[in-house]
Amino acid sequence: MRSWLEINLNNLSYNLAQIEKLTNKKVIPVIKANAYGLGSIQIAQYLKSKDYDLYAVANFHEALEIKESGVNIKTLIMGNNDKDDLQQAIKNNFSITISSWDDIKNLETITSNINSLIHIKIDTGMGRIGFLPSEAEKAIQYIKTNNLGEIEGIYSHLSSADENEDEFTLNQITQFSKYENNENIKFRHILNSPGIFKYYKNTNTNYVRPGIAMYGILLFDSPLKNILKPVFKLKTKIIYLKKLQKETFISYGKTESGQKGDIIATLPIGYADGLDRRFSNGGIVKVLGQECKIIGRVCMDMTMIVIPESIKDRVEIGTEVDIYDEEIQTAAEKIGTIADELMTRINKRVQRRHI
Ligand SMILES: *Cc1c(COP(=O)(O)O)cnc(C)c1O
Repeated sequence: MRSWLEINLNNLSYNLAQIEKLTNKKVIPVIKANAYGLGSIQIAQYLKSKDYDLYAVANFHEALEIKESGVNIKTLIMGNNDKDDLQQAIKNNFSITISSWDDIKNLETITSNINSLIHIKIDTGMGRIGFLPSEAEKAIQYIKTNNLGEIEGIYSHLSSADENEDEFTLNQITQFSKYENNENIKFRHILNSPGIFKYYKNTNTNYVRPGIAMYGILLFDSPLKNILKPVFKLKTKIIYLKKLQKETFISYGKTESGQKGDIIATLPIGYADGLDRRFSNGGIVKVLGQECKIIGRVCMDMTMIVIPESIKDRVEIGTEVDIYDEEIQTAAEKIGTIADELMTRINKRVQRRHI
């Protein structure tokens, strides 16, 4: 018995279409980290028929994995590449991010750099990678003068669009604004998912980079939330059921016990599958639409839940259980994290079913 992730591809492309309609900008679907755990190859393959201009991944190896699967899409590597990866990336015709003078130095040592497709990254406030705005112009001129490749893109990244940080975020957007209308550069982009929903009216860039939103999740409350459809569910089935004869400890460490008469179901999913161990003693899953509480510690391969009175007559071995659904962000907040982390930690032991 395996747990599985159900992925609704129709809803995924529906969400992308909704984002394009809302923003009047084209999307660069972000399929890094195995498409946030949902399967980058299958998703790239499906989206290919929709003819998007560009897809984004984090590093060279993610781009290569997709290419070697036979899915031929145009890919931007958003992270920094070391010299070897940079050379390989250029050879494979991937679009690369140039974000520092060290990157430029590496580019210069690669002899076959004629075809390099460059996106310049500017740090407007994220503090991660990127030229300072004051350096960017110099870098662009240097690349042009020395024929180091074609500058097909320019971009920046918002650090706090999902927080109450209007002023800071608008300042980031303003710093980038001198590039947003530059039609000599094909791809101009700054908005991530929260940025898309909150600031699409504040920038004239022609592309946006949705990650989590295309997968149906918003990390903050927004009236626009409803324009997205859910894309995935992490599911499992009950493999064991028992009615307690007396008060009984459940799971490792005797951290919790069930009472006489409680119905306890065992699920074949644990933290090695990606069900976060911090959901021990109180995490919520759904059976037949009813919330059920995790009792005791989440184990590596199994987890126990309490079946509520209201559904006890309808539950049997094989009954399906929803572990993470469209409310994953609420669950994530309870243990101090975000949906992205829970999604990207769903292990390969969990089967991906693309529908
Ligand atoms: C991950 C990432 C994104 C997508 O972010 P979401 O908030 O999931 O939309 C966009 N741009 C960059 C540079 C990223 O690293």
